[in-house]
Amino acid sequence: MAEAALLAAEYGGSVPQLLHKHGYGPGRPVTNEAVQSGAWSRCGYGGCNYAGTPESLRNHQGKTGHR
Ligand SMILES: [Zn+2]
Repeated sequence: MAEAALLAAEYGGSVPQLLHKHGYGPGRPVTNEAVQSGAWSRCGYGGCNYAGTPESLRNHQGKTGHR
């Protein structure tokens, strides 16, 4: 779980804590921020707007064939 280790190292293992720290809440574009920070990746296949951790992106691409 390299992603979990990275999160633990950078954010103390608590994403909600990270979000709170940066003032995110309902309605804030946290997905865009996560992508811009490099923590998440966007699919981008054929204009697909899916974004997530590297692990969830792999799942998404496996299910949809977006690669
Ligand atoms: Zn996609």
